[in-house]
Amino acid sequence: MKIINITPQFVEFIPSTLQDGVLYISHKYATAAHKCCCGCGIKIVTPITPTDWRLTVSGDTVTLYPSIGNWNHPCQSHYWIRGNCVIWAGSMTQQQINRGRERDRAFKKNYYKKFNNTETVIQTTETSLNNTQNSSQKSIWSTFKLWLKSMFD
Ligand SMILES: [Zn+2]
Repeated sequence: MKIINITPQFVEFIPSTLQDGVLYISHKYATAAHKCCCGCGIKIVTPITPTDWRLTVSGDTVTLYPSIGNWNHPCQSHYWIRGNCVIWAGSMTQQQINRGRERDRAFKKNYYKKFNNTETVIQTTETSLNNTQNSSQKSIWSTFKLWLKSMFD
């Protein structure tokens, strides 16, 4: 069953068993992880770095950029996590698109209030999109290193 809402949970270490519909966030290791939102059970690890994913926390809602594309997994899921909502690529209704746009506008408005360097943020996001393919190999290694580190810490 497809998950349409995800709840952030702030942890020191990403647990080995993940719950459906929870986005685990470790500030210490700059990593987030969740179970694939299609329900296939695969663990998706998203390193939070300028060249991987960018995580925005606003109150108790989280947004992850860019999208999650599980091309290496059988389910081939592709979705966005935006304001705790899972937005599925290719299956969006017009209503969902409109709601997504509203959320984006609200999100940007809040973001402008907090920071003035939106230009930099947008550029970082674009770079992330372009580098997603190239950095996947590196991500695996950095994730692996993080896990090693967490085991021996
Ligand atoms: Zn899946």
